[in-house]
Amino acid sequence: MDAQQLLALDNAHVWHPYSAIDADQWIFPVASANGVRLKLADDRELIDGMSSWWSAIHGYNHPVMNRALQVQIEQMSHVMFGGLTHAPAVELATRLVELTPAPLQTVFFSDSGSVAVEVAMKMTIQYWHAKGRPSKQRFLTIRNGYHGDTFGAMSVCDPVTGMHSLFSDTLTQQYFVDAPTCCFGGPCSDDDVAPLRRKLEQHRKDIAAIILEPIVQGAGGMRFYAADYLRRVRELCNEFGVLLICDEIATGFGRTGKMFACEHAAISPDIMCVGKALTGGYLTLAATLTTRDVSATISNGEPGLFMHGPTFMANPLACAAALASLKLLTESDWAANISRLEAGLERGLAPCRELASVSDVRVLGAIGVVELTAPVDMKTIQPLFVEHGVWVRPFGRLVYLMPPYIISDQDLAELTATVVRVVESLPE
Ligand code: PMP
Repeated sequence: MDAQQLLALDNAHVWHPYSAIDADQWIFPVASANGVRLKLADDRELIDGMSSWWSAIHGYNHPVMNRALQVQIEQMSHVMFGGLTHAPAVELATRLVELTPAPLQTVFFSDSGSVAVEVAMKMTIQYWHAKGRPSKQRFLTIRNGYHGDTFGAMSVCDPVTGMHSLFSDTLTQQYFVDAPTCCFGGPCSDDDVAPLRRKLEQHRKDIAAIILEPIVQGAGGMRFYAADYLRRVRELCNEFGVLLICDEIATGFGRTGKMFACEHAAISPDIMCVGKALTGGYLTLAATLTTRDVSATISNGEPGLFMHGPTFMANPLACAAALASLKLLTESDWAANISRLEAGLERGLAPCRELASVSDVRVLGAIGVVELTAPVDMKTIQPLFVEHGVWVRPFGRLVYLMPPYIISDQDLAELTATVVRVVESLPE
Protein backbone atom coordinates (compact mmCIF):
# COMPACT_ATOMS: atom_id res chain seq x y z
CA MET A 1 0.00 0.00 0.00
CA ASP A 2 1.52 3.37 -0.91
CA ALA A 3 1.25 6.42 1.32
CA GLN A 4 -1.56 7.90 -0.76
CA GLN A 5 -3.72 4.77 -0.42
CA LEU A 6 -2.89 4.46 3.26
CA LEU A 7 -4.01 8.03 3.91
CA ALA A 8 -7.20 7.57 1.91
CA LEU A 9 -8.14 4.44 3.91
CA ASP A 10 -7.09 6.08 7.16
CA ASN A 11 -9.33 8.99 6.36
CA ALA A 12 -12.20 6.67 5.48
CA HIS A 13 -12.05 4.30 8.45
CA VAL A 14 -9.70 5.29 11.27
CA TRP A 15 -10.52 7.51 14.18
CA HIS A 16 -7.49 9.26 15.72
CA PRO A 17 -7.21 10.65 19.30
CA TYR A 18 -9.34 13.71 19.94
CA SER A 19 -10.32 14.11 16.32
CA ALA A 20 -13.25 14.24 13.99
CA ILE A 21 -13.83 11.60 11.37
CA ASP A 22 -13.37 12.86 7.81
CA ALA A 23 -11.61 15.95 9.09
CA ASP A 24 -9.26 17.55 6.60
CA GLN A 25 -6.57 17.38 9.22
CA TRP A 26 -2.93 16.59 8.77
CA ILE A 27 -1.96 12.99 9.44
CA PHE A 28 1.53 11.74 8.62
CA PRO A 29 2.19 8.05 7.90
CA VAL A 30 5.23 6.74 9.80
CA ALA A 31 7.18 3.90 8.20
CA SER A 32 9.67 3.25 11.00
CA ALA A 33 11.28 4.82 14.03
CA ASN A 34 14.85 4.56 15.24
CA GLY A 35 16.64 6.33 18.09
CA VAL A 36 15.09 9.82 18.25
CA ARG A 37 13.97 9.81 14.62
CA LEU A 38 10.60 9.02 13.10
CA LYS A 39 10.87 8.08 9.43
CA LEU A 40 7.85 9.05 7.36
CA ALA A 41 6.55 7.01 4.45
CA ASP A 42 8.05 9.59 2.04
CA ASP A 43 11.51 9.02 3.64
CA ARG A 44 11.58 12.33 5.50
CA GLU A 45 13.07 12.00 8.99
CA LEU A 46 11.75 13.92 11.98
CA ILE A 47 13.51 14.50 15.30
CA ASP A 48 11.01 13.35 17.94
CA GLY A 49 10.17 15.99 20.53
CA MET A 50 7.26 14.10 22.13
CA SER A 51 8.54 10.64 23.18
CA SER A 52 5.14 9.42 21.93
CA TRP A 53 3.35 11.28 24.73
CA TRP A 54 5.92 10.87 27.50
CA SER A 55 6.54 7.18 26.94
CA ALA A 56 9.48 6.42 24.58
CA ILE A 57 12.18 7.54 27.00
CA HIS A 58 14.94 5.40 25.43
CA GLY A 59 13.94 6.32 21.88
CA TYR A 60 12.71 3.83 19.31
CA ASN A 61 13.97 0.44 18.15
CA HIS A 62 16.36 0.15 21.08
CA PRO A 63 18.47 -3.04 20.75
CA VAL A 64 18.27 -3.90 24.48
CA MET A 65 14.51 -3.45 24.56
CA ASN A 66 14.09 -5.40 21.33
CA ARG A 67 16.17 -8.27 22.67
CA ALA A 68 14.22 -8.43 25.94
CA LEU A 69 10.98 -8.75 24.01
CA GLN A 70 12.41 -11.36 21.66
CA VAL A 71 13.52 -13.46 24.65
CA GLN A 72 10.13 -13.11 26.35
CA ILE A 73 8.13 -13.91 23.21
CA GLU A 74 9.91 -17.27 23.01
CA GLN A 75 8.75 -18.05 26.57
CA MET A 76 5.16 -16.81 26.41
CA SER A 77 3.42 -13.70 25.15
CA HIS A 78 0.47 -13.87 27.48
CA VAL A 79 -1.24 -15.98 30.08
CA MET A 80 -4.21 -15.06 32.22
CA PHE A 81 -3.30 -13.66 35.63
CA GLY A 82 -6.21 -15.17 37.56
CA GLY A 83 -4.78 -18.12 39.49
CA LEU A 84 -1.46 -17.94 37.59
CA THR A 85 1.65 -15.87 38.07
CA HIS A 86 4.96 -15.47 36.27
CA ALA A 87 8.47 -14.13 36.73
CA PRO A 88 8.14 -10.96 34.61
CA ALA A 89 5.19 -9.74 36.72
CA VAL A 90 6.72 -10.68 40.08
CA GLU A 91 10.10 -9.18 39.22
CA LEU A 92 8.49 -6.01 37.91
CA ALA A 93 6.28 -5.60 40.98
CA THR A 94 9.31 -6.10 43.23
CA ARG A 95 11.31 -3.56 41.23
CA LEU A 96 8.50 -0.99 41.35
CA VAL A 97 8.20 -1.41 45.12
CA GLU A 98 11.97 -0.85 45.43
CA LEU A 99 11.89 2.28 43.26
CA THR A 100 8.81 4.01 44.71
CA PRO A 101 8.53 5.60 48.18
CA ALA A 102 8.75 3.08 51.01
CA PRO A 103 5.16 2.60 52.20
CA LEU A 104 4.01 1.50 48.73
CA GLN A 105 4.12 -2.29 48.86
CA THR A 106 1.33 -3.75 46.74
CA VAL A 107 1.12 -3.53 42.95
CA PHE A 108 -1.98 -3.90 40.78
CA PHE A 109 -1.22 -4.10 37.03
CA SER A 110 -3.58 -2.82 34.36
CA ASP A 111 -3.50 -1.91 30.69
CA SER A 112 -3.50 1.86 30.52
CA GLY A 113 -3.10 5.00 32.57
CA SER A 114 -6.83 5.70 32.63
CA VAL A 115 -7.54 2.25 34.00
CA ALA A 116 -4.79 2.64 36.62
CA VAL A 117 -6.66 5.75 37.80
CA GLU A 118 -10.00 3.88 37.86
CA VAL A 119 -8.29 1.19 39.93
CA ALA A 120 -6.92 3.80 42.34
CA MET A 121 -10.40 5.28 42.78
CA LYS A 122 -11.98 1.86 43.33
CA MET A 123 -9.27 0.92 45.84
CA THR A 124 -10.03 4.11 47.75
CA ILE A 125 -13.76 3.45 47.90
CA GLN A 126 -13.28 -0.19 48.90
CA TYR A 127 -10.78 0.87 51.56
CA TRP A 128 -13.24 3.20 53.26
CA HIS A 129 -16.01 0.68 52.88
CA ALA A 130 -13.88 -1.91 54.67
CA LYS A 131 -13.14 0.66 57.38
CA GLY A 132 -16.88 1.07 58.01
CA ARG A 133 -16.98 4.50 56.34
CA PRO A 134 -19.10 3.79 53.23
CA SER A 135 -20.11 7.44 52.85
CA LYS A 136 -16.57 8.29 51.78
CA GLN A 137 -17.04 7.95 48.02
CA ARG A 138 -16.08 11.36 46.60
CA PHE A 139 -12.75 12.75 45.41
CA LEU A 140 -11.24 16.18 45.88
CA THR A 141 -8.91 17.52 43.22
CA ILE A 142 -7.46 20.65 41.66
CA ARG A 143 -8.57 22.31 38.45
CA ASN A 144 -6.43 21.98 35.30
CA GLY A 145 -5.84 18.32 36.14
CA TYR A 146 -5.91 15.44 33.70
CA HIS A 147 -6.25 11.80 34.70
CA GLY A 148 -7.53 9.98 31.61
CA ASP A 149 -10.60 9.48 29.47
CA THR A 150 -12.63 6.77 31.21
CA PHE A 151 -15.60 7.82 33.34
CA GLY A 152 -14.05 7.76 36.80
CA ALA A 153 -10.89 9.43 35.52
CA MET A 154 -12.92 12.01 33.58
CA SER A 155 -14.83 12.92 36.73
CA VAL A 156 -11.59 14.24 38.28
CA CYS A 157 -10.27 15.95 35.12
CA ASP A 158 -10.59 19.69 34.76
CA PRO A 159 -14.35 20.30 34.43
CA VAL A 160 -13.91 22.70 31.50
CA THR A 161 -11.23 21.03 29.38
CA GLY A 162 -12.64 17.63 30.39
CA MET A 163 -15.96 18.86 28.97
CA HIS A 164 -17.93 17.83 32.02
CA SER A 165 -21.10 19.53 30.86
CA LEU A 166 -21.28 17.13 27.92
CA PHE A 167 -21.25 14.14 30.29
CA SER A 168 -22.85 15.79 33.29
CA ASP A 169 -25.69 13.28 33.66
CA THR A 170 -23.34 10.32 33.92
CA LEU A 171 -20.22 11.72 35.59
CA THR A 172 -19.94 11.52 39.34
CA GLN A 173 -19.81 15.02 40.78
CA GLN A 174 -16.48 15.46 42.55
CA TYR A 175 -15.04 18.41 44.51
CA PHE A 176 -12.72 20.88 42.81
CA VAL A 177 -10.58 23.77 43.97
CA ASP A 178 -8.57 26.17 41.84
CA ALA A 179 -5.16 24.94 40.72
CA PRO A 180 -2.23 26.18 42.81
CA THR A 181 -0.73 29.48 41.66
CA CYS A 182 2.50 29.01 43.63
CA CYS A 183 5.12 28.12 41.02
CA PHE A 184 7.72 25.37 41.18
CA GLY A 185 10.82 26.56 43.02
CA GLY A 186 8.81 29.18 44.88
CA PRO A 187 7.19 29.25 48.31
CA CYS A 188 3.65 28.30 49.17
CA SER A 189 1.61 29.58 52.09
CA ASP A 190 -1.39 28.53 54.17
CA ASP A 191 -3.47 30.73 51.86
CA ASP A 192 -2.53 28.59 48.87
CA VAL A 193 -4.00 25.47 50.45
CA ALA A 194 -6.89 27.26 52.21
CA PRO A 195 -9.43 26.27 49.50
CA LEU A 196 -8.48 22.60 49.96
CA ARG A 197 -8.78 22.93 53.74
CA ARG A 198 -12.24 24.53 53.39
CA LYS A 199 -13.51 21.73 51.13
CA LEU A 200 -12.15 19.12 53.53
CA GLU A 201 -13.82 20.86 56.49
CA GLN A 202 -17.15 21.05 54.63
CA HIS A 203 -17.16 17.54 53.20
CA ARG A 204 -14.90 15.42 55.38
CA LYS A 205 -17.66 12.83 55.74
CA ASP A 206 -17.79 12.02 52.04
CA ILE A 207 -14.30 12.86 50.74
CA ALA A 208 -12.36 9.61 50.29
CA ALA A 209 -9.14 10.94 48.77
CA ILE A 210 -7.38 13.84 47.18
CA ILE A 211 -6.17 12.95 43.70
CA LEU A 212 -3.68 15.04 41.77
CA GLU A 213 -0.72 15.02 39.42
CA PRO A 214 2.32 15.75 41.58
CA ILE A 215 4.29 18.93 40.61
CA VAL A 216 3.42 18.88 36.89
CA GLN A 217 -0.13 19.27 35.63
CA GLY A 218 0.28 17.72 32.19
CA ALA A 219 -2.46 17.62 29.59
CA GLY A 220 -4.49 20.16 31.61
CA GLY A 221 -2.00 22.96 30.95
CA MET A 222 1.64 21.86 31.45
CA ARG A 223 1.91 23.85 34.68
CA PHE A 224 4.59 23.27 37.34
CA TYR A 225 3.56 24.04 40.92
CA ALA A 226 5.48 24.40 44.19
CA ALA A 227 6.76 21.28 45.93
CA ASP A 228 5.69 22.88 49.20
CA TYR A 229 2.07 22.82 47.99
CA LEU A 230 2.29 19.05 47.56
CA ARG A 231 3.88 18.69 51.00
CA ARG A 232 0.99 20.66 52.51
CA VAL A 233 -1.55 18.53 50.63
CA ARG A 234 0.00 15.45 52.25
CA GLU A 235 -0.33 17.10 55.66
CA LEU A 236 -3.98 17.99 55.01
CA CYS A 237 -4.71 14.39 53.99
CA ASN A 238 -3.21 13.18 57.28
CA GLU A 239 -5.07 15.80 59.30
CA PHE A 240 -8.48 15.07 57.74
CA GLY A 241 -8.09 11.32 57.36
CA VAL A 242 -8.33 11.10 53.58
CA LEU A 243 -6.06 9.16 51.24
CA LEU A 244 -3.66 10.81 48.82
CA ILE A 245 -3.52 9.50 45.25
CA CYS A 246 -0.58 10.72 43.15
CA ASP A 247 -1.01 10.26 39.43
CA GLU A 248 2.59 9.83 38.26
CA ILE A 249 1.55 8.46 34.87
CA ALA A 250 3.17 11.36 33.02
CA THR A 251 5.76 12.44 35.59
CA GLY A 252 7.14 9.04 36.64
CA PHE A 253 10.50 7.53 35.70
CA GLY A 254 12.72 10.58 35.79
CA ARG A 255 10.94 13.07 33.55
CA THR A 256 10.89 15.89 36.14
CA GLY A 257 14.46 15.29 37.36
CA LYS A 258 13.41 12.95 40.20
CA MET A 259 12.52 9.32 39.66
CA PHE A 260 8.98 10.25 40.80
CA ALA A 261 7.72 13.82 41.03
CA CYS A 262 6.45 13.36 44.60
CA GLU A 263 10.13 13.11 45.64
CA HIS A 264 10.46 16.87 45.00
CA ALA A 265 8.28 17.30 48.10
CA ALA A 266 9.74 14.28 49.92
CA ILE A 267 6.26 12.84 50.41
CA SER A 268 4.72 9.49 49.69
CA PRO A 269 1.14 8.99 48.60
CA ASP A 270 -1.17 6.21 49.79
CA ILE A 271 -1.78 5.24 46.17
CA MET A 272 0.40 5.93 43.14
CA CYS A 273 -0.45 5.40 39.46
CA VAL A 274 2.29 4.82 36.89
CA GLY A 275 2.11 4.10 33.16
CA LYS A 276 3.41 5.66 29.94
CA ALA A 277 7.25 5.46 30.30
CA LEU A 278 6.90 2.28 32.40
CA THR A 279 7.56 0.12 29.31
CA GLY A 280 9.82 2.66 27.59
CA GLY A 281 6.88 3.23 25.24
CA TYR A 282 7.01 -0.31 23.80
CA LEU A 283 3.72 -1.72 25.03
CA THR A 284 0.74 -0.54 26.98
CA LEU A 285 1.02 -1.25 30.72
CA ALA A 286 0.17 0.66 33.87
CA ALA A 287 0.28 -0.06 37.58
CA THR A 288 -1.44 1.18 40.70
CA LEU A 289 0.70 0.86 43.82
CA THR A 290 -0.59 1.09 47.33
CA THR A 291 0.36 0.53 50.95
CA ARG A 292 -0.04 -2.66 52.97
CA ASP A 293 -2.56 -0.80 55.08
CA VAL A 294 -4.81 -0.17 52.05
CA SER A 295 -4.36 -3.59 50.43
CA ALA A 296 -4.76 -5.52 53.69
CA THR A 297 -7.77 -3.47 54.80
CA ILE A 298 -9.52 -4.13 51.47
CA SER A 299 -8.65 -7.84 51.64
CA ASN A 300 -9.91 -8.18 55.22
CA GLY A 301 -13.13 -6.28 54.57
CA GLU A 302 -16.28 -7.17 52.63
CA PRO A 303 -16.31 -8.89 50.13
CA GLY A 304 -12.70 -9.82 50.96
CA LEU A 305 -11.44 -9.13 47.43
CA PHE A 306 -10.45 -6.22 45.32
CA MET A 307 -13.08 -5.99 42.60
CA HIS A 308 -11.04 -5.54 39.45
CA GLY A 309 -9.27 -7.93 37.04
CA PRO A 310 -8.43 -7.04 33.44
CA THR A 311 -7.99 -9.81 30.84
CA PHE A 312 -4.52 -8.65 29.91
CA MET A 313 -3.44 -7.93 33.47
CA ALA A 314 0.36 -8.13 33.87
CA ASN A 315 0.90 -9.13 30.24
CA PRO A 316 4.32 -10.86 30.26
CA LEU A 317 5.59 -9.08 27.16
CA ALA A 318 4.71 -5.70 28.62
CA CYS A 319 6.28 -6.66 31.98
CA ALA A 320 9.46 -7.81 30.20
CA ALA A 321 9.60 -4.50 28.32
CA ALA A 322 9.14 -2.62 31.61
CA LEU A 323 11.90 -4.59 33.31
CA ALA A 324 14.29 -3.89 30.43
CA SER A 325 13.33 -0.22 30.40
CA LEU A 326 13.84 0.17 34.15
CA LYS A 327 17.20 -1.57 33.93
CA LEU A 328 18.33 0.76 31.15
CA LEU A 329 17.14 3.75 33.14
CA THR A 330 18.49 2.87 36.56
CA GLU A 331 21.83 1.62 35.28
CA SER A 332 22.41 4.93 33.49
CA ASP A 333 23.32 8.23 35.13
CA TRP A 334 19.77 9.29 34.43
CA ALA A 335 19.64 12.22 36.87
CA ALA A 336 22.70 13.86 35.29
CA ASN A 337 21.23 13.17 31.87
CA ILE A 338 17.92 14.84 32.76
CA SER A 339 19.93 17.87 34.04
CA ARG A 340 21.67 17.94 30.65
CA LEU A 341 18.28 17.97 28.89
CA GLU A 342 16.96 20.60 31.29
CA ALA A 343 19.92 22.88 30.50
CA GLY A 344 19.54 22.24 26.75
CA LEU A 345 15.80 22.99 26.81
CA GLU A 346 16.34 26.12 28.90
CA ARG A 347 19.12 27.40 26.64
CA GLY A 348 17.35 26.50 23.42
CA LEU A 349 13.88 27.81 24.28
CA ALA A 350 15.05 31.03 26.03
CA PRO A 351 14.83 33.14 22.82
CA CYS A 352 11.06 32.51 22.81
CA ARG A 353 10.83 34.77 25.88
CA GLU A 354 11.51 37.77 23.62
CA LEU A 355 8.59 37.01 21.28
CA ALA A 356 5.35 38.98 21.49
CA SER A 357 3.29 35.86 20.76
CA VAL A 358 4.73 34.08 23.84
CA SER A 359 3.36 34.57 27.35
CA ASP A 360 5.66 32.16 29.23
CA VAL A 361 8.56 29.77 28.77
CA ARG A 362 9.11 27.17 31.49
CA VAL A 363 11.37 24.17 31.83
CA LEU A 364 11.47 21.41 34.43
CA GLY A 365 13.61 18.33 33.98
CA ALA A 366 13.13 17.02 30.46
CA ILE A 367 9.95 19.08 29.88
CA GLY A 368 10.09 22.39 28.01
CA VAL A 369 6.96 24.50 27.54
CA VAL A 370 6.35 27.58 25.41
CA GLU A 371 2.98 29.08 26.29
CA LEU A 372 1.55 31.36 23.63
CA THR A 373 -0.85 34.27 23.98
CA ALA A 374 -3.33 32.63 21.56
CA PRO A 375 -4.23 29.06 20.63
CA VAL A 376 -2.28 27.56 17.76
CA ASP A 377 -3.95 26.70 14.49
CA MET A 378 -3.06 23.01 14.21
CA LYS A 379 -3.69 22.96 10.46
CA THR A 380 -0.91 25.50 9.98
CA ILE A 381 1.54 24.67 12.75
CA GLN A 382 1.61 20.87 12.47
CA PRO A 383 2.77 20.72 8.83
CA LEU A 384 5.19 23.56 9.52
CA PHE A 385 6.99 21.52 12.18
CA VAL A 386 7.14 18.54 9.83
CA GLU A 387 8.53 20.69 7.01
CA HIS A 388 11.24 21.77 9.44
CA GLY A 389 12.09 18.15 10.25
CA VAL A 390 10.78 17.79 13.81
CA TRP A 391 7.84 16.06 15.46
CA VAL A 392 6.15 18.42 17.89
CA ARG A 393 2.43 18.25 18.64
CA PRO A 394 1.13 21.42 20.29
CA PHE A 395 -2.28 21.79 21.90
CA GLY A 396 -4.25 24.91 22.75
CA ARG A 397 -1.79 27.67 23.59
CA LEU A 398 1.02 25.24 24.34
CA VAL A 399 4.00 24.23 22.26
CA TYR A 400 5.94 21.78 24.40
CA LEU A 401 8.82 19.35 24.22
CA MET A 402 9.50 16.16 26.14
CA PRO A 403 12.13 14.41 24.04
CA PRO A 404 13.47 10.88 24.53
CA TYR A 405 16.18 10.91 27.21
CA ILE A 406 18.75 9.64 24.68
CA ILE A 407 18.56 12.75 22.50
CA SER A 408 21.99 14.23 21.71
CA ASP A 409 22.86 17.85 22.48
CA GLN A 410 22.97 18.52 18.76
CA ASP A 411 19.50 17.11 18.06
CA LEU A 412 18.10 18.89 21.09
CA ALA A 413 19.55 22.19 19.86
CA GLU A 414 17.98 21.53 16.45
CA LEU A 415 14.63 20.71 18.06
CA THR A 416 14.53 23.84 20.22
CA ALA A 417 15.82 26.07 17.39
CA THR A 418 12.96 24.79 15.24
CA VAL A 419 10.44 25.61 17.96
CA VAL A 420 11.85 29.13 18.14
CA ARG A 421 11.74 29.49 14.34
CA VAL A 422 8.16 28.20 14.06
CA VAL A 423 6.85 30.24 17.01
CA GLU A 424 8.59 33.32 15.59
CA SER A 425 6.72 32.85 12.34
CA LEU A 426 3.30 32.77 14.03
CA PRO A 427 1.10 35.85 13.75
CA GLU A 428 1.15 37.93 16.97
N1 PMP B 1 -2.97 10.51 33.92
C1 PMP B 1 -2.11 11.38 33.38
C2 PMP B 1 -1.41 12.35 34.27
C3 PMP B 1 -1.87 11.38 32.01
O1 PMP B 1 -1.03 12.28 31.46
C4 PMP B 1 -2.55 10.43 31.20
C5 PMP B 1 -2.34 10.36 29.70
N2 PMP B 1 -2.07 11.52 29.05
C6 PMP B 1 -3.43 9.54 31.81
C7 PMP B 1 -3.61 9.60 33.18
C8 PMP B 1 -4.18 8.51 31.01
O2 PMP B 1 -3.33 7.55 30.51
P1 PMP B 1 -3.75 6.65 29.25
O3 PMP B 1 -3.80 7.59 28.07
O4 PMP B 1 -2.67 5.62 29.16
O5 PMP B 1 -5.09 6.06 29.55
